[in-house]
Amino acid sequence: MKRLLPTATAGSLPKPAWLAEPEKLWSPWKLHGAELAEGKRDALRLSVQEQQVAGIDIVSDGEQSRQHFVTTFIEHLDGVDFEKRQTVRIRDRYDASVPTVVGPVSRSRPVFVEDARFLRRQTQQPIKWALPGPMTMIDTLYDAHYKSREKLAWEFAKILNQEARELEAAGVDIIQFDEPAFNVFFDEVNDWGIAALERAIEGLRCETAVHICYGYGIKANTDWKKTLGAEWRQYERTFPKLQASGIGMVSLECQNSRVPMDLIELLRGKQVMVGAIDVASETVETPEEVAATLRKALQFVDADKLFPCTNCGMAPLSRTLARAKLEALSAGAAIVRNELAH
Ligand SMILES: [Zn+2]
Repeated sequence: MKRLLPTATAGSLPKPAWLAEPEKLWSPWKLHGAELAEGKRDALRLSVQEQQVAGIDIVSDGEQSRQHFVTTFIEHLDGVDFEKRQTVRIRDRYDASVPTVVGPVSRSRPVFVEDARFLRRQTQQPIKWALPGPMTMIDTLYDAHYKSREKLAWEFAKILNQEARELEAAGVDIIQFDEPAFNVFFDEVNDWGIAALERAIEGLRCETAVHICYGYGIKANTDWKKTLGAEWRQYERTFPKLQASGIGMVSLECQNSRVPMDLIELLRGKQVMVGAIDVASETVETPEEVAATLRKALQFVDADKLFPCTNCGMAPLSRTLARAKLEALSAGAAIVRNELAH
């Protein structure tokens, strides 16, 4: 029998201090060459073990082999010059120096497929693999070639589809696309963003997901959140079209956020990964707090479609804190699972 309320994480988990400087986002590697390759695999093993001990049902690689959730993927593609940098505004929120698209983009070799095969060998549990979404990818680059956000997103969607098909063949159960940009560029999301995402999942038989959040707990994001007012209704702009799309699951932020829970109703019929762990707070949720969030969500999503999850990735947190939060997530899910059984 399929377990009710299977727990998962949105994606990244902290890396060990011997692999990269801890409690730092996009932290540089401490190892090199063959040692780095082996170190990443060892960190992946540890991350899987920590998720299992914490009782997480759908495990991931904890993104142990990537430095950045978008650029690590792009680094493996042709057509992008990482030496040629331009300062652009990311998600309409903060300026960053980014690489330049200098020619047609293409994927000459798989990016994460070997890592996914390695993860598959570590566990019998369902595994989830995260890829950046097309709109978030274009928002992290300067485009001197296509000079069209839509055109570039479409090219990336085709590349993501190639990668996703190979991840599926490697045994990945859920392929998740991270699209924080969906919470910013609403007109583009509805005009072509969701269509690009559907191009990325074309032909897949495995489960597919999109993760839309309010970002890591970094200052640019917490400052932005302060400007969003008493109710965060961003999801309202994109959920109706997502509900009608071919994407199977939606991962969203709920814990400690000002997202009105009833917006989940707009996704009725989809599977929902409900963020019940705040990744921007050092306070560990109690199992009862997690349970309370899940109970609220259950008003708007059927129990067999609810996946207790974290709001976003936990890479910038300490390992101790991240472990405690994963345990709280499992314990909170267990409370509600027990209630549903009686
Ligand atoms: Zn996120």
